Amino acid sequence: MPIKDIRMHLGIEEGELTGGALRVTSPIDGAVIGNVEQTTVPDLDAILGRSIEAFRGWRQVPAPQRGELIRLFGDELRAHKEPLGKLVSIESGKILAEGLGEVQEMIDICDFAVGLSRQLYGLTIASERPGHRMMETWHPLGPTGVITAFNFPVAVWAWNFAIALVCGNPVVWKPSEKTPISAIACKKLFARACRRFAAAPNDLLAVVIGGKDVAERLVDDRRVPLISATGSTAMGRVVGPRVAQRFGRTILELGGNNAMIVAPSADLSLALPAIVFSAVATAGQRCTSLRRLIVHENIAADLIRRLKAAYQTLKIGDPLDPDNLVGPLIDQSAFQSMQNALDQARGQGASIFGGQRAVQDTFPEAYYVKPALVEMAEQTDLVRRETFSPVLYVLTYRELDRAIEIHNDVPQGLSSSIFTSDMREAETFVSDMGSDCGIANVNIGTSGAEIGGAFGGEKETGGGREAGSDSWKAYMRRATNTINYSSEMPLAQGVEFDFAKAALP
Ligand code: NAD
Repeated sequence: MPIKDIRMHLGIEEGELTGGALRVTSPIDGAVIGNVEQTTVPDLDAILGRSIEAFRGWRQVPAPQRGELIRLFGDELRAHKEPLGKLVSIESGKILAEGLGEVQEMIDICDFAVGLSRQLYGLTIASERPGHRMMETWHPLGPTGVITAFNFPVAVWAWNFAIALVCGNPVVWKPSEKTPISAIACKKLFARACRRFAAAPNDLLAVVIGGKDVAERLVDDRRVPLISATGSTAMGRVVGPRVAQRFGRTILELGGNNAMIVAPSADLSLALPAIVFSAVATAGQRCTSLRRLIVHENIAADLIRRLKAAYQTLKIGDPLDPDNLVGPLIDQSAFQSMQNALDQARGQGASIFGGQRAVQDTFPEAYYVKPALVEMAEQTDLVRRETFSPVLYVLTYRELDRAIEIHNDVPQGLSSSIFTSDMREAETFVSDMGSDCGIANVNIGTSGAEIGGAFGGEKETGGGREAGSDSWKAYMRRATNTINYSSEMPLAQGVEFDFAKAALP
């Protein structure tokens, strides 16, 4: 399906992709796929004003009805899964199966949010005072700013959007400047859902197009009580303090440096596909991509041999061709940073398999690479850094305690896994003494999380949680209510405060 047909299926007008100052190219072949208009600072000011208006109306709509709008949006996504999935592939370069998978993830979170809209529960709490009742109630926060990265152009936004909306918050979305067309498409699909839902105020969703300048204005604006920002740790280092400075809230979803421990008892027939998928899917450009493999020394040679054989079978090329499993890197700068990392590894004595540029004859303006396996003698600062490309560092260990030590000795803390058939090792890995990450798996890879769990990580990954479980609480304001239904006025902790009541009129 050519881009023009995709655009028409998704309801994007031709004029929306022409004449703007932001040039959008496809990483597949470097072709320009749109020139999109950017949001100016005065535009943003007006958008936020309208978002506040939308909030005033939306918070009055009962949560289960808010869920109904998300159900309708989910229907639109089901009906448009194919063109939206293709657009995601064209704009981000991920293979079509993953582009469609992203849209499926949006559908899944919509389903989750619809159910959640009837489950925004608070506690009731025993009061120490007679004739009193305590309870917690949860209330919408206000416009929620969502900043997203190029590598998940739509799913990460949807995790935030579906939950924020049922919680009663409008959303102002600043997508990556590398993938704005997917965001425009989502806005169109949501507008279709709104047309079928009379109680939806205008401006429940605004899309702000541009780079970090406009994003920083959004981040600094006091009308936005919550900023959910997904991207590099460098971005989080700026956004976190800026929002904190105005006492706003953040959900930070930043870089990862995910590892897998492969123990001697591991079932390698399971470990092998899990390693390959985690390391090379999305060309190593997932926040949960496998970047470090910590293998027991007794099985390392065998596993590396099998991995090299598996890597050689990987088809690299046009991500829209179903035969290919590895698409391009997002751009030249990603390619350069991969090559720099490999050069440094070489300088540190690493043995490197793969890593070269691929299919450049077919796509001279794009950056495809052979995924790299890099055997390192030790975990150096290079390995501790996230290089956002298919570079898998391989390290060895003798004792599990040492493997866990290496595992945790990085600044990031997103995803992790162990392959073992030893119950003691598996339990240790997910225990207080094990992985220090937000996601710790046993006998599956580091990437490809389901929406039902809370997603996010520790340390420099930012500490945020989004998607399932009770992540919704970050999008709401909690009030503790104490209700006195007695005819007395006792104070808590038995405090006596006896002023001359008799003298009062
Ligand atoms: P990036 O940090 O360059 O950009 C991400 C978003 O932040 C973009 O929309 C960008 O415009 C915006 N931004 C950049 N600087 C900003 C600033 N100073 N203030 C406000 N906004 C700013 O990241 P990227 O290259 O698009 O994505 C790759 C990175 O994202 C990797 O580090 C990856 O691990 C991370 N990531 C994390 C998760 C997660 O859930 N933890 C998910 C996806 C991607």
